[in-house]
Amino acid sequence: MIRASSISTPRRRPERRRCHEAAAPDADYASTSTGAATSPGVAALSRWRRLPLLCLVGVALASLWWLWQWQYAQSEAEARRHADNRLSLYGSSLQGALERFTYLPGLLAHQPQIQAALLDPAEIFVPQVNAFLALVAERSGAEVIFLLDAEGRTLASSNHAEADSFVGHDYRFRPYFYEAMATGQGEFFAVGSTTGRPGYFVSAAVGPGAPEAAQGVLVAKVSLEALQADWRRAGEKVLLTDANGVVILSSRPEWRYRRLGELTPQAREEIRRQRQFMGEPLEPLGRRLRDDSLLVGGAGLGERLVDTTLALETLGWTMHYLMPVRPLYVSARNALMGGVAVWLALLLLALWLRERQKRQRLREREAAIIREANERLEARVVERTRELQEAQAELVQAGKLAALGTMAAGIAHELNQPLSGIRTYAANGQRLLDRGRSDAADDNFQRIQALCERLGGLIRQLKLFARKGGAREPVDLVARLDFVLELLAERCRQQGVRPRSRLPGGALWVLGDEVRVEQLLTNLLRNALDALRGVAEPWLEVAIEAEAERLVVTVADNGAGIPDELLEQLFDPFFTTKAVGDGLGLGLFISYGIVQDLGGRIHAGNRPSGGAWFRVELPRAQPTGLASPSSIRESQDEP
Ligand code: ADP
Repeated sequence: MIRASSISTPRRRPERRRCHEAAAPDADYASTSTGAATSPGVAALSRWRRLPLLCLVGVALASLWWLWQWQYAQSEAEARRHADNRLSLYGSSLQGALERFTYLPGLLAHQPQIQAALLDPAEIFVPQVNAFLALVAERSGAEVIFLLDAEGRTLASSNHAEADSFVGHDYRFRPYFYEAMATGQGEFFAVGSTTGRPGYFVSAAVGPGAPEAAQGVLVAKVSLEALQADWRRAGEKVLLTDANGVVILSSRPEWRYRRLGELTPQAREEIRRQRQFMGEPLEPLGRRLRDDSLLVGGAGLGERLVDTTLALETLGWTMHYLMPVRPLYVSARNALMGGVAVWLALLLLALWLRERQKRQRLREREAAIIREANERLEARVVERTRELQEAQAELVQAGKLAALGTMAAGIAHELNQPLSGIRTYAANGQRLLDRGRSDAADDNFQRIQALCERLGGLIRQLKLFARKGGAREPVDLVARLDFVLELLAERCRQQGVRPRSRLPGGALWVLGDEVRVEQLLTNLLRNALDALRGVAEPWLEVAIEAEAERLVVTVADNGAGIPDELLEQLFDPFFTTKAVGDGLGLGLFISYGIVQDLGGRIHAGNRPSGGAWFRVELPRAQPTGLASPSSIRESQDEP
């Protein structure tokens, strides 16, 4: 009994286009990426590379299409469920309203007074029947109940007293009359030809021989206006169409007496003959679209509605429940937009991941390049270091040979002079002895002795120079300086020099051996005293400054100072400005070697107010035991 109309899913061209548009950037990208391809082989490779991308776009479009369809179907199914519920409610209430009256004409037809009224040509019973019908109509709720004779003329009616009384009217053209006369009962929906009010007519044949020999028909007209008003109040779009598709009841009054679909000429003729709709033009309500939805209203301006129907038993009527299509599309569109958003998010995520991967690869490539460059650089450094070491070794070798040459020349020079002196004095002495001049010869022998002592001093210095290295034990620098000053005290007194010493209280330690430390200090102080010879107001200062990591010894005087151009050669072997016999030029050279051995540095310069300064920096050491003052005496030796 319930037949729901099929609602085919509409096609959505615009969304398809949108998907194509979304795919456009990829196509652009692909075309740009292949733009550089020149040979057909490269182009083919590029096409193959694009294949996964195209597949992905295809999957995205297909999934969006499926999502659209699925959401639309879900919304439609939901709407149809709702429509079916409402239709069954409205259908049963209509059916109930009609069924209340179907028995009434048959029941009344058996009333003796009604039958008598038909048989009475004098119409004596008519007033009585009129009153009876009016009473029944009032009690039953029927709009009008009336009695037709065998010719279809109204004999009696419940509205006999009203202005639009049916009495005397001829209704033989109405199906409820001739069908009842033919079959015993009839029903019909029509606009009242007398009142102009629509209603449902239900009838039954009257007479003892009915239906074959019926003498009249009793008709009840039922108004369905109250039902229609209920639909309107519910605010829903509900229609009732008859077998010809003409709207006979509607929640919207303007839709009434319009038709759904086409009317055949026969149907039109029949409607005209039966005066069913009293000349209403029966314009079409709208257009039925291909998907079975209804487009109600003018083209382009109309409202598209989903039509769900329920077939009723009465007179081939159909009840329609109409719902706008728009919400279904809105819901499908929202789902589609959600899907597009998800795909866009996935696309962005993929792009981001690809970008990150690219950057990662770039970083790795850069790191590899840097690593390679470093390795190359390291290899070159190793190579260059090896070359430098070789060059240095050669230089050292050359330097050694040069130093040896210089030293040999210096020693030869220093030895040669006293030796030639000795030779001369010895020859002279011999000659003087031959002549018997022993006093004069004695003088020569003393000179020979002095020259031999000088040779001895030279050899001692060379021995000292040859003694490299030595012990490395904590040496108290302050104590060693005190000792050296004490040794030189007599000479200072002779020269009228009063050395000033600035020493911090307590011991200060360096790692080395006492003899070499004393040798270093002695050399510096002797040079200063040498420089102070003949100075009117001699001034000599010795200072030790203690820093965290080192000790700084400064020896300064107010002698003649060192000419600037000689400062660079100061520490060279055999460099001396002193007269022959006064200096060998080995003191600072030896001092330099000692400072190097102790891991320190030595510098020299001139004071602004005149005189020279020497600065020795030595690494500071921690005392591990007390240094013994033994073997100090060696340091007193003259260079
Ligand atoms: P020597 O004392 O035998 O000349 P040194 O190596 O001790 O050898 O000194 C080298 C030269 O440095 C000296 O000849 C002298 O010219 C210069 N010199 C060293 N100390 C001083 C000083 N305090 N003032 C001026 N000149 C100095």
